[in-house]
Amino acid sequence: MTTTDTHCPYCALQCGMRLAPGAAGEPPDITGREEFPVNRGALCGKGQSAAALLAPAARLTEPLVRDASGELRPATWSEALDRTAEAMRRAAEVYGPDAAGVFGGGGLTNEKAYLLGKFARVALGSSAIDYNGRFCMSSAAAASRAAFGLDRGLPFPLADIPHTGCVILVGSNPAETMPPAVRHLRELRENGGTLIVVDPRRTRTAELADLHLQPLPGTDLALALGLLHLVVADGHVDEEFVAARTTGFDAARATAMAHWPERVEALTGVPVPAQREAVRLFTARPTGMVLTARGPEQQSKGTATVGAWIDLCLATGRAGRPYSGYGCLTGQGNGQGGREHGQKADQLPGYRSLEDPADRAAVAAVWGVDPGHLPRSGTSAYELLDRAGRPGGVRTLLVMGSNPVVSAPDAGHVTRRLQALDHLVVCDFVLSETALLADVVLPVAQWAEETGTLTNLEGRVLLRRAALAPPPGVRTDLHVLHALAARLGHPRGFPEDAEEVFAELGRATAGAPADYAGISYDRLTGEPGIHWPCPAPGHPGTPRLFLDRFAHPDGRARFAAPTHRPSAEEPDSAYPTRLTTGRTVHHYQSGAQTRRVAALTAADPGPYVELHPDLADTLGADDGDLLLVTSRRGTATAPARLSKAIRPDTVFMPFHWPGAGRANSLTHAALDPVSRMPEFKVCAVRVEKAPPA
Ligand code: SF4
Repeated sequence: MTTTDTHCPYCALQCGMRLAPGAAGEPPDITGREEFPVNRGALCGKGQSAAALLAPAARLTEPLVRDASGELRPATWSEALDRTAEAMRRAAEVYGPDAAGVFGGGGLTNEKAYLLGKFARVALGSSAIDYNGRFCMSSAAAASRAAFGLDRGLPFPLADIPHTGCVILVGSNPAETMPPAVRHLRELRENGGTLIVVDPRRTRTAELADLHLQPLPGTDLALALGLLHLVVADGHVDEEFVAARTTGFDAARATAMAHWPERVEALTGVPVPAQREAVRLFTARPTGMVLTARGPEQQSKGTATVGAWIDLCLATGRAGRPYSGYGCLTGQGNGQGGREHGQKADQLPGYRSLEDPADRAAVAAVWGVDPGHLPRSGTSAYELLDRAGRPGGVRTLLVMGSNPVVSAPDAGHVTRRLQALDHLVVCDFVLSETALLADVVLPVAQWAEETGTLTNLEGRVLLRRAALAPPPGVRTDLHVLHALAARLGHPRGFPEDAEEVFAELGRATAGAPADYAGISYDRLTGEPGIHWPCPAPGHPGTPRLFLDRFAHPDGRARFAAPTHRPSAEEPDSAYPTRLTTGRTVHHYQSGAQTRRVAALTAADPGPYVELHPDLADTLGADDGDLLLVTSRRGTATAPARLSKAIRPDTVFMPFHWPGAGRANSLTHAALDPVSRMPEFKVCAVRVEKAPPA
């Protein structure tokens, strides 16, 4: 290998890193790139140790097929691909085209996401496609589209954060999920700005804040309405901005006025003085930002909750102006690009709609197909999995870049649905828990072994270059789609070459909201990325959106004016405690990658239940005691970790582990009516001390 400038395999920050040959027999050396503006040389422990993933011992190097005895055995690529193509063909013949489906991932490159969407709609002719990004930021995407007419995680660069007056971080813990981003928050405070953190846990990020608001899980919508109430009551509405650039404020004001401070304290547990202090800090200077992450988004009212926080920005004039606005801190490596190019059940590349005749025609022309032959919108990720193997659901499923056995809500149920499939094929570079259920496992190349583009949480399109060749026996995801499409009667139209796919993606998104037409590999080489929309080769890209107008046809933003409602499952006498879930600093998503990195596993070896000492007292539990956590869907077992950082009425579990400690055995699949996001962030549980073994 040669020294190569590339990007991290993990989260949406997409930190710039440099890979250089390691010592003999050692993995490559990794260093952060000072010149990349997002991380400026800093890497977290996950990024620093990412070269361990490249070791052949950690990964698959030959296809596997399940034999007659039920065991996975090595196979040739031809056998594995033939078997999969035949299963897809048979499902479509017997049950109809929607019986063969695909399930993608928010870590896939733009090229893979694009080609996977095309594969489903053209090679399979199926509407059955969605991806794990539905479980990530879909509520923020839906709320942003409704408010601004366009969804881009951050409509401004991260580097703007130090120059705003106040940041409200809602349900976001970057100090653990994306540590290099914290530098921007520290600089904000060094510049005299303030930081407010809204989180049921006193996280490492909350420790950095000027003010920490600690609401009951599932009540942050009410908190946002309460803050808007105070904004109105105290005369902080930016009347000029509201009149000139928004619609719908009267309804938002009326809803907020029904959420007076004492009522909000009763609903959320956030004291009235803290609510007042939050409004004072947020309105003290003329600029401000609200940034959300999974806390408010992963709820059955996630779209409404994010909408309420956006309303706070709009009412105070903190949107569509320099150093102000609402943004979503997307989680997965290509959480932004992965949602733009056709993996979502209802979208075509560039955020085009499957239900819009002009959008269908534009994409069909690039794909060389009749628009009438494109399927309509399919069902969302959880619904696709829930119906797997049932009448009307998929019978054959290709999973690429996802591990739903660990990461899906109500994961025990999802596991049973995957087991009910006629055929499951998984493309992965490790034998994940989902791959263990598969009929066919295809070993694919990973980040540093293949070239592709990703779009980070700022809408910055960047080129992640291959640094070394994959091990013998391993092929790329693009090769898999190319080879399967050929077997299904489409020998052309599914290139294996990433640059060729990207050029086609550019044509398919030309004129669309997420327009990549002006971006090329040549332009991205040596550049720190280009922000979309970028409609022409000479266009500089668009780091900041909405400065002149919002993306709705009339140029105005829309207030959401949502009302508070309880979570889908509130505590009761049988399940008296709330459970919330999240990530730890050393692991990423389902842990399929990070659990294979010795340094990360040594630092953070397994699941745990974080609970307040007062709750532990009532259970007679000490630190380290094994606890049983039971919801209406299952039981998880993990040691107690006592902490005053969590509310006494709530327990927290990280979701990175399979088996007995799988947090998603407990979570609730109640879906948001707009985004179809499941309610990962709150459900009711019973916590008990496990009986002695
Ligand atoms: Fe990688 Fe995210 Fe860590 Fe940066 S913050 S090194 S992108 S995991």
